[in-house]
Amino acid sequence: MPSPALLSVDLNALARNFHTLEAVTGVPVHPVVKADAYGLGAEACAKRLMAEGARTFFVARAGEGAALRTALGPEPVLYVLDGCHGEAAGLLKAADLRPVLNQPAQMKAWAEAGGGACGIQIDTGLNRLGFRPEDAPEAFDGLSLVMSHLACGDEPDQPMNRRQRDRFAGVVERYPGVTRSFANSGGCFLGPDFAFDAVRPGVCLYGGGPEGRPDERIAPVAALTAEVLLVRDVRAGESVGYSRGFVAERPMRAAVVAAGYADGVLRAYGPRGAVWVAGETRPLLGRISMDVCTVDVTGLEVAVGDRVELFGAHRPIDAAAAAAGTISYELLTAVTVRVPRAYVGQ
Ligand SMILES: *Cc1c(COP(=O)(O)O)cnc(C)c1O
Repeated sequence: MPSPALLSVDLNALARNFHTLEAVTGVPVHPVVKADAYGLGAEACAKRLMAEGARTFFVARAGEGAALRTALGPEPVLYVLDGCHGEAAGLLKAADLRPVLNQPAQMKAWAEAGGGACGIQIDTGLNRLGFRPEDAPEAFDGLSLVMSHLACGDEPDQPMNRRQRDRFAGVVERYPGVTRSFANSGGCFLGPDFAFDAVRPGVCLYGGGPEGRPDERIAPVAALTAEVLLVRDVRAGESVGYSRGFVAERPMRAAVVAAGYADGVLRAYGPRGAVWVAGETRPLLGRISMDVCTVDVTGLEVAVGDRVELFGAHRPIDAAAAAAGTISYELLTAVTVRVPRAYVGQ
């Protein structure tokens, strides 16, 4: 049964994006499926990606990795980006997860837990997780991955990209035979010397970015649609929604749509928000409320039960994100648990 608000996920498009990224980079693609595959459903996405040949995945948290291990079985390699900290060691061991260690305390914690296969992260300029190149550990038993992460991978002209790449190339010489991974989605499009041995794209698999706009080779994967609950006349001088967020200068038709900020339709859309309805991109009127938003459908044939698209094939996710002053990553991960996911190509 179609739900008032629905996130449709096209697994065939996900598979195409996976193979596109393999072709663009020429190296194995190790999908990043953290945050429930950016909100699209880690189990469904990872299973399809495994069927397409993926054998290594990245998550952010040990708990995400444990859930994925249960879903995927023993075969794939699962790396946990935030490493071995707090109570994680037991969970990492129990679920056969590989932490990406990022500081001396984590090296110690992992060794004390018995050690085993793991990665390390080198910080080449992002100043987030990872060892500074000069503090990078010596090669050790069990080390299966050395990685770093770009600060500006979505800006191809940013000179810092090459500086980070060269720093990484200098450090990895210490770890002969260990898999080297550098590029996220943006990095996949920076050229062959950014690919190293394996790439770690997230958002491009799911149809977003890089560069705040999908590359033309990347297909949309996710569509957030919602049902029209009511179509009403708005008279000149009347306002729409909370706080008189929109005031009609002339008579209008407005559709009230079953998607609000409790579904993940960011309240920050404000006056630049728009949806695809009856074959056109039409502006949202006034404030987004918790359960509904309102669209200008003046002059359109729109009836109760019709569906509008908040983002998807007709309303590109990066355009929708820009309207809210944000990026596709946040739009995807903002879709809440109230919204059922429906899969095409499962
Ligand atoms: C999230 C993340 C990725 C994936 O980034 P995208 O820009 O979505 O491709 C890769 N590597 C690390 C370390 C990450 O945190």
